[in-house]
Amino acid sequence: MGMEDEVVELCRELIRIDTSNAGDNAGPGERAAAEYVAEKLEGAGIKTTILESDSKRASVIARIEGEEPSRDALLLHGHLDVVPARASDWTHDPFGGEIADGCVWGRGAVDMKDMDAMILASVLDRARTGRKPKRDVVLAFLADEEAGGAYGAHWLVDNHPGLFEGCTEAVGEVGGFSLTVPGDRRLYLIETAEKGLAWMRLKAVGTAGHGSMIHDDNAVTELAKAVARIGEHRFPIRLTPTVRRFLEQACEAYGIEFDPKDPEACLPHLGTLARMIGATLRSTLNPTRLDAGYKANVIPQHAEAQVDGRFLPGYEKEFFETVDALLGEKVQREFVHYDIAVETPYEGDLVGAMEEALIWADPGAIPVPYCLSAGTDAKSFATLGMRCYGFAPLKLPADLDFSGMFHGVDERVPVDGLRFGVRVLDRFLDNA
Ligand SMILES: [Zn+2]
Repeated sequence: MGMEDEVVELCRELIRIDTSNAGDNAGPGERAAAEYVAEKLEGAGIKTTILESDSKRASVIARIEGEEPSRDALLLHGHLDVVPARASDWTHDPFGGEIADGCVWGRGAVDMKDMDAMILASVLDRARTGRKPKRDVVLAFLADEEAGGAYGAHWLVDNHPGLFEGCTEAVGEVGGFSLTVPGDRRLYLIETAEKGLAWMRLKAVGTAGHGSMIHDDNAVTELAKAVARIGEHRFPIRLTPTVRRFLEQACEAYGIEFDPKDPEACLPHLGTLARMIGATLRSTLNPTRLDAGYKANVIPQHAEAQVDGRFLPGYEKEFFETVDALLGEKVQREFVHYDIAVETPYEGDLVGAMEEALIWADPGAIPVPYCLSAGTDAKSFATLGMRCYGFAPLKLPADLDFSGMFHGVDERVPVDGLRFGVRVLDRFLDNA
């Protein structure tokens, strides 16, 4: 089977292995998918190691020698887990891997069993035909990305850093996809930055008492005021190098002048991507949970809320100073989950190899760097000093709401996009 047919079959088969991760460490786990991947690689003569951080929470690592083994190695990483899906909401079975309307349907079709399949299809074809990548490549198929990587990338980086020895650059999700712009051209968004994340629990402590009396120390009131201040706050616009370059190139593609005083001017042109790109111009805070009390006539002693905070690379200090000022004296915060922001320059040979492969496969390609408003396993690998990029190449139809596919109902990936992606990734490995 050729690489372009195989990538489609691999993607479908991976989708059929349910690796739902609700973040409670109680799902089916990634073990079956890890064994599937390892078996495919071993079948092509590539030695693999399966590591389990907890029961059924398995990741697969392999190392492939390149033409120039004296050079630093490149890490290619993809996660095997997916967020859960409720079948009754879907047009096609989320774990069926069906093909309909020119797409492979199912949970993980774009996040990110598509890229797992592209990596596999390329390296399997290379192994069978004796085509080495330019330099040593480490493959990592990881557990637990969807819950922050404590059982996957973070665990491996903390407990088995030697597996990534010599890796100075890493390529994973979420980038390399196209956005159609005027003149039958396409921006391809290569991820060079990610916002940091601060999921926080807010706690107010007051005095408990009878709901009928005068009461000036009410935890619910104090918490509600802080949550409202947090929810209504808008951070100032801060243009990181990545975002500035993205906006300049996006403006050029749409034929509008980039105005640093009004950098949001091009957002309305970006269609469904506007909300995600808009969130990369500033840090954000969104209240997401509230919890207090147990009876209408009892003033509780405690009240809690949770907030999803995301800070721009380089603006972490400003972010937390702002949070603390908004919380005031009576509300304390603690982390539910914290992870760093990352940003790496859009330059160098690796970026050159991505651009070359995209333009080779799509002469209308305009590769651009962008910042992801969310986070990926790149955060873990950045702590080992790697420069991290999101490059899972996909040429998409102009009307597909791609960002809505992530964790969405009816997640699907165009078959042609998969075939395009494996061609580009394979070409990239020749020159990376
Ligand atoms: Zn993902």
